[in-house]
Amino acid sequence: MIEKRTPIPVPEAQKRVIELAKKSTKTETVTIQEADNRTLAEPIYADHDIPPFDRSPLDGFAVQSEDTTHATSETPVLLEVMETVGAGHVAKPVTKQGQAVRVMTGTMMPDGCDAICMFELTNEVKKDGKTYIEIKRPFKKGDFVSFKGEETKEGDPLIQAGTRITAGVKAVLATFGYAKINVIKRPVVGIFATGTELLEVDEPMEPGKIRNSNAYMIAAQVEEAGATARYYGKLADDFDPCYHAISESLKDVDMLITTGGVSVGDFDFLPAIYEKLGARVLFNKIAQRPGSVTTVAELDGTFLFGLSGNPSACFVGFELYTRPVIQTFLGSKTPFLTQTKATLTKDFPKPNPFTRFIRSEVGYTNDGTLTTGPVGFDKSSTVTSLAHTTCFTVLPGGSRGYKAGEQVDVLLIGGQGSETPLVLPEKR
Ligand code: AMP
Ligand code: MG
Repeated sequence: MIEKRTPIPVPEAQKRVIELAKKSTKTETVTIQEADNRTLAEPIYADHDIPPFDRSPLDGFAVQSEDTTHATSETPVLLEVMETVGAGHVAKPVTKQGQAVRVMTGTMMPDGCDAICMFELTNEVKKDGKTYIEIKRPFKKGDFVSFKGEETKEGDPLIQAGTRITAGVKAVLATFGYAKINVIKRPVVGIFATGTELLEVDEPMEPGKIRNSNAYMIAAQVEEAGATARYYGKLADDFDPCYHAISESLKDVDMLITTGGVSVGDFDFLPAIYEKLGARVLFNKIAQRPGSVTTVAELDGTFLFGLSGNPSACFVGFELYTRPVIQTFLGSKTPFLTQTKATLTKDFPKPNPFTRFIRSEVGYTNDGTLTTGPVGFDKSSTVTSLAHTTCFTVLPGGSRGYKAGEQVDVLLIGGQGSETPLVLPEKR
């Protein structure tokens, strides 16, 4: 007998998942070179002032402002250039009136000087084997100087724990001497692709078979979300080997993703496997297209994500339910995809019985309007459109087709993320 499943709304499914998701307390130390995309387990402080000393922000002359008080273009003052100093060198102190130092960008202010005059505002004059500059305007104390601590003071808190390490974060880590950093341990996410029809990427095509794209797609999504993907291989649709492989793998992973086998077909064994494992099924039917059969179960605190075998449904299922759990594990406070409005660029004539997530490409018009364009063939089995997917157009359940130019909801893939689950779009 076919089991009757009752669909629940997407936000309800997301809430059930996030309620059980936990932030990890396990940390490890990595070198700054290894830190890309990792999550800070400690806040970052400034270990010194920035700039660390008063310095010149440009190529010019360090002068004593008092010398320039009466300078005009008619009566320029003449200053003797004592030496030329590049960044990284320390100038000799300037002790007498009428002296200046030629300095390059980043050079520490010479003792005795208190203003910087850029090259362009001076004329060089050679006299008696000495070099002088003519200055035609007055400078005040501090003019054009970059002051010690003007950007950041020693001890300032700069980046919170829980932040993902980007190129910009790495610049800060390097500046403040963080050669090694404490980061959250990445969760290990096991992956099985199920289906007797699956061929591996390097196998030639055969009648009745298809290549396994889900495993590689999901592994990439897992890594992109900040976790470690451990691909265990593909499983034929036989109950016992599937059960044993899945149950063995659970000893070594923080979460497990399977693709395929969660529907009500004769060879869809995941529901029976969850039952035999004693896992608690949070839901097995969601009012969404694609991916209505997406199933999430939990066993002793380990999540089991039963994603659909259909590539588009699998992709959507990961983004809606698995990514938020990984992100929460890593301490993110914005684990869900960002929801916003955009203008549809193409007609979408299909009716929408359930909330629909159309694989789409986000864009901007010249006047700054966000746009969303469905990419390619829209079926849950579609694989090729995934290559161009940067957002989901979200259409409300129970609605008819939409026309280009209409305002619709979108979920942006990647980026800042959102604190809250999907807000179901309103029917127009
Ligand atoms: P299932 O969810 O197992 O009923 O599979 C649904 C559809 O997705 C079937 O047409 C499968 O052949 C296809 N499929 C299942 N697993 C994969 C996979 N790993 N890669 C690509 N397609 C798959
Ligand atoms: Mg299958």
